[in-house]
Amino acid sequence: MFAYSSIEQYHAQLQEGQVDCVRAVLHYTARIRETASLNAFIEVYEAEALDRARQLDAKRQAGAPMGKLHGVVIALKDVICYKDHKVSAASGILENFTSIYSATAVERLLQEDAIIIGNCNCDEFAMGSTNENSSYGPVRNAADPERVPGGSSGGSAVAVQSGCCMVSLGTDTGGSVRQPADFCGIIGMKPTYGRISRYGVIAYASSFDQIGIFGNNIPDVAQVLQVIAGADEFDSTLSQKPVEDYPALLQTGKKYRFAWLREALEHPSLDPAIASAIKEKIESLRKEGHTVEPVEFDMLEYIVPAYYILTTAEASSNLSRYDGVRFGHRTQQPGLDLTEFYKQNRAEGFGKEVKRRIMLGTFVLSAGYYDAYFTRAQKVRNLIRQRTEQIFAQYDFILLPTSPSTAFKIGEKTKDPIEMYLADIYTVMANLAGIPAIALPLFKHPNGLPFGLQVMANRFQELPLLEVSAQLMRR
Ligand code: GLN
Repeated sequence: MFAYSSIEQYHAQLQEGQVDCVRAVLHYTARIRETASLNAFIEVYEAEALDRARQLDAKRQAGAPMGKLHGVVIALKDVICYKDHKVSAASGILENFTSIYSATAVERLLQEDAIIIGNCNCDEFAMGSTNENSSYGPVRNAADPERVPGGSSGGSAVAVQSGCCMVSLGTDTGGSVRQPADFCGIIGMKPTYGRISRYGVIAYASSFDQIGIFGNNIPDVAQVLQVIAGADEFDSTLSQKPVEDYPALLQTGKKYRFAWLREALEHPSLDPAIASAIKEKIESLRKEGHTVEPVEFDMLEYIVPAYYILTTAEASSNLSRYDGVRFGHRTQQPGLDLTEFYKQNRAEGFGKEVKRRIMLGTFVLSAGYYDAYFTRAQKVRNLIRQRTEQIFAQYDFILLPTSPSTAFKIGEKTKDPIEMYLADIYTVMANLAGIPAIALPLFKHPNGLPFGLQVMANRFQELPLLEVSAQLMRR
């Protein structure tokens, strides 16, 4: 039997010889087979992971020092490149494409002795909130297989939720780590924009995209973040700020100033059971001596439209590179001229939601509409940033729900894309403002499904965010 609780405990067991990395990998590959119907994994690197486990065991037994993630079994979202392994962004247009280099985050995991177990299903090009927009089919929520796990990093979330790996990486452009974490009852953290390199991450919307981490406890998330964060010569949008030693510095027991957004907790779309659980939590924090106050945030109605205008505009540009010539799906249809050839490649390769967003993005950038949509949405983004800054001048954290509802049924929202977009109301704010945010699995709904609390902090305040999260998770 192999039982996992945290990296720290696993490392202690490795050092005492109670377990080894091979046993860990065998445990996870067996678990992946048992849960195959959830469709969380696209490919499992079984033989390779076992080889690496054997090497790590030999190295450790020979007395070599252990890396910070020695033997830690990690799954990657299928938008994160891993050299010589397939990566497709769950899209037909990248079918059979093999990464020619590894993402910086992956390089750093490997340098610290991590074991990559496989790549996980997701929404095509990370566009979606349910993992139903995948060329590999939907992922199922282990809490109820008739329900979605959330998206777009649904596979990475379910991989952790169903015990198929210790931690996993996803990406969060508008909530794709936090919302599936919320639906699956695990932790999902999106760091500050500019904290983790995007080099080797297939782009959706470059000024929003950020790698995020799924785990079962805060010290694990803190450790992975510490390893993968920090300056990288291949990504000029990264901050040069030194990375703190999050796991070592984590302290709890502090008193904080929390703000909560009245408009968010009183929003008509919010499930009443979610609203009341969060209000109760607010009360109990106050009783414990924290400052917890409501603040006005009158921009909630604008954040989803601004997000979808800006991200689709960026996506239409980012995805123009998939033309079937340099790489990507190439049509078999004969006798096409160059323009028809491009069109046919893209028509065959992309799925419906991606096409919708490319068209929307092209429209908002087109002459005559640019100022009305794109420029205006940029202004909204600036206002949101300013307003967020003002809140953080007075408070340490903002408390919010992560999603207005618990996990919905597979197929329930696919007919109405607008309804699906509106469900991103609580997560996109952090991406518009570039701030870190975390989803913490604190509650159970009367319907039996998990949901949590979202905590946001100011830019580069990952350490206090992890500290307060550890404190909140402790009860
Ligand atoms: N649900 C959001 C969208 O569809 C978020 C996606 C993401 O964060 N990658 O765009």
